[in-house]
Amino acid sequence: MDICRATHRLPYVELLTAMRDAGANESEYPKLDDAFGTCALGEKHNGRHMGSVYAPGAEPELWVQWDDDKIIYVRVPICAQDDLSIPLKERMACWLPLAHDCGHSWEAREWAYL
Ligand SMILES: [Zn+2]
Ligand SMILES: [Zn+2]
Repeated sequence: MDICRATHRLPYVELLTAMRDAGANESEYPKLDDAFGTCALGEKHNGRHMGSVYAPGAEPELWVQWDDDKIIYVRVPICAQDDLSIPLKERMACWLPLAHDCGHSWEAREWAYL
């Protein structure tokens, strides 16, 4: 599986507001030039693009979803599905949002063994 990696500029004030509401403090805010979402889903996914915005440490993470018309911030727990075909010690739980479309993060060749 390849990653979609579509990017989208995020309106700055809305982004910071969503981050603040998710518990981020000012030192964690991105710079204006870095206010982009990058889609982490598999490249053949259906529906809106989806990129991680802020991981507060405790779940749920803040994600941004977008399409041509809309940008939406959502807080979603991670999928956490394991790859049952490999030994337990080498497994990495999927870090994509719960109920995500397409394959799990460990199915992406480039991220499988980070
Ligand atoms: Zn996408
Ligand atoms: Zn998954």
